[in-house]
Amino acid sequence: MRKTASLTENEARYLKLIYRAWEDSRQLGTTDIARILGVQPPSVTEVLQILHSKGLLRYKRYKKIEITKLGIKVAGKLLRRHRILEVYFADILKCSPEEACEEASRVDFHFSDRAIDALSRIYSTRTCPCGKHIPVRSQVLREREHTSSVPNRVVFSSEHQRRYP
Ligand SMILES: [Zn+2]
Repeated sequence: MRKTASLTENEARYLKLIYRAWEDSRQLGTTDIARILGVQPPSVTEVLQILHSKGLLRYKRYKKIEITKLGIKVAGKLLRRHRILEVYFADILKCSPEEACEEASRVDFHFSDRAIDALSRIYSTRTCPCGKHIPVRSQVLREREHTSSVPNRVVFSSEHQRRYP
């Protein structure tokens, strides 16, 4: 089973969180992440430094975190998996977007691209159950341009990703 880059599941959680903020044109700081994930700021700093050293984000103490192009690409892949799985779980469990997100969060990191591609052929939707855009394999980098050309991008109030990053 191939995993994205050489990320641990925990690092992937952080990266997904930072990517989601980036999608909404927001930037997070260490304390934001500590609050959202319910962990101590020093552990956040530790993970951010690792992600920085892997070239996925730019992190400086007391500054907001900036995701890099590589980070966008890697996180886009992770969110693609997550959101396609949300679509799948919402369908088979007939559950709410929040529950689908929770289920997807349990397993998304471990799914292979092959399995995700197969699921994406079954479900042709471009959005997840909570209305977020599902990154397309090759379009992950182009998504930013797309995002900024659509200023009224819908931001969903449920923000359930805060609970299940
Ligand atoms: Zn979603």
